[in-house]
Amino acid sequence: RAPADIYRPLRANSKGVEFGERAGLDALLTEIEIARKLRPTALPSQPSHKERRACRSPIDGKEIGSVIDSDGKSIEAAMAAAQHSFDSWAATSVVARAWVLDRTADLIEARRASFIALLQEEAGKTLDDALGEVREAADLCRYYAAQARELCTETALPGPTGEASSLRRCGRGVFVCVSPWNFPLAIFIGQVAAALAAGNSAIAKPAEQTPLVAFEAVSLLHEAGVPQDVLQFAPGGGDVGAALVEHPCCAGVVFTGSLEVAKSINRALAQKPGAIVPLIAETGGVNAMIVDSTALPETVADDVLTSAFRSAGQRCSALRVLCLQEEIAGGCTELIAGAAAQLRIGDPRDLGVHLGPVIDAEAKERLEAYLAGCAARGRIIYAGEAPAAGCFVAPHIVRLDRLEDLKEEVFGPVLHVVRWRAEAFDALVEAIARRGSGLTMGLETRIERRRHALGAMAPAGNIYVNRNMIGAAVGGQPFGGFGLSGTGPKAGGPDYLRRFMREITVTVNT
Ligand code: GLU
Repeated sequence: RAPADIYRPLRANSKGVEFGERAGLDALLTEIEIARKLRPTALPSQPSHKERRACRSPIDGKEIGSVIDSDGKSIEAAMAAAQHSFDSWAATSVVARAWVLDRTADLIEARRASFIALLQEEAGKTLDDALGEVREAADLCRYYAAQARELCTETALPGPTGEASSLRRCGRGVFVCVSPWNFPLAIFIGQVAAALAAGNSAIAKPAEQTPLVAFEAVSLLHEAGVPQDVLQFAPGGGDVGAALVEHPCCAGVVFTGSLEVAKSINRALAQKPGAIVPLIAETGGVNAMIVDSTALPETVADDVLTSAFRSAGQRCSALRVLCLQEEIAGGCTELIAGAAAQLRIGDPRDLGVHLGPVIDAEAKERLEAYLAGCAARGRIIYAGEAPAAGCFVAPHIVRLDRLEDLKEEVFGPVLHVVRWRAEAFDALVEAIARRGSGLTMGLETRIERRRHALGAMAPAGNIYVNRNMIGAAVGGQPFGGFGLSGTGPKAGGPDYLRRFMREITVTVNT
């Protein structure tokens, strides 16, 4: 195949589902266009004294809405309301709570065009990324609803003769949900849905860059039947997150974002007087893919491009360092660079575009500074081209001498390549595992022993063999890492909800 044929993002979403008929696509595009025009742009929240803040699109810097961030008083009011409403929500039957989440999923699907429009403008998503995210958001609501039905049913336990024991699970109290900008709908609503399904009230703090889509999600949850007080919206930056976490009413925290912030939350929770407060944190990863000489080069190129550059590399799951077996490294790199050269970077609302912008000017600056350093050391193998205006960063491929030369996660469309020798496979996997920051990992091989070896050595939370490394499917591919990548349990997996719950055993001597 010619390189141009290799990257086909519009044909399938992240879960490999065919995109659909052209006729369906045209209707969706019209709906998105209308949604773009009809959207209200100013967000109400608890009254706050802060100045209204403009929300700008990373595509062109245009103001697309505004928000008033929470202040001390509004945080107090939100916490008090959430705390006050907790008992009645916890006493609401799990059937009713799950019903509300199923209805939320239905509403998300019914309003998918307006979510897509917003995801494109506020987060710079391409159509296939936005569509994949809308589907994931609905899937998460339905999955956690089903999990709650199962877990919140009181179970009788076999016990010593003469005693009757039972196990019951219920919410912990007010759960603080702090979410990232890279999945401003799916991760945002996934955290909130899990907290609510488990019987908690929730305070949702969206990323500073993406309050508009988050507010739409909160409105939808309220419309579906979540009582206003039970779910509070607290937009703002790190100061708001810190105040929520440190608040005496905070009974649990779920966080997705940087390792640094996860650690600071952990420290703050440890220092709080009173009860021990659980933290569920998902951070990033310096994710590797190993390719050996038995892999199919075209498949490798396809999977590498998707893993490294889709969503402009702004996924925690994205491929950061590609480890190519020496014998095939030259040809493989050439094929990947050739395919990368076919990628179009620009306004993600344009159907022919593969990569939209990075999230904001700060992210662009950080990436450019990193790439300038690589260029100065003569490390750049491939550099694409991106529009100068807007927050665009072109895909780059950077050569490394050793795996260890990549010190930290570079959150953008930058792929690092390193070579390895055939006899060092196990040592390479061990070196990757030792770093402790594998959230995802890829392996391209036709040698079965290597597949098994990787599974047994478990260097990362999500291991993908002979496919790309992104787009974990809810339920089927529970997502999350360990070590420097997070605490677990995995989102979209069977154990996630338990961590949001208290467990109570009652034993009666009959
Ligand atoms: N679940 C997403 C995936 O599998 C990544 C989530 C994230 O970036 O935090 O691609």
